[in-house]
Amino acid sequence: MADQPIKAQDEKYCSSCGAAIKKEAEICPKCGVRQSSAGIPKEVSEEGADFLSKAASCCVPIVGLVLFFVWKDSKPKASKDVCKWAIIGIAISVVGYIIVMALGVGAAMFGG
Ligand SMILES: [Zn+2]
Repeated sequence: MADQPIKAQDEKYCSSCGAAIKKEAEICPKCGVRQSSAGIPKEVSEEGADFLSKAASCCVPIVGLVLFFVWKDSKPKASKDVCKWAIIGIAISVVGYIIVMALGVGAAMFGG
């Protein structure tokens, strides 16, 4: 602890180089490293989901659900995209199921 710099009341130690810096400092003046403290906005991607992710979410809605939870913090726009396509995929499969059922009932009525 001999080389640890003495810090004043309103100072803290840099998370990178350990220098005594102001508590309010966002960036260490010695090493230039950004201090990790609450209030710094996380980097959020504004990119939407790519075509492959949308197609996968539509064909296999569970993929969209998983991607939604993976991306909801870092890629809010992409997570909304896959969520939307997962719902579309579910809707298509429900409609398809109804059509198949209707055709099945029709075939049973006229086929017998
Ligand atoms: Zn530093």
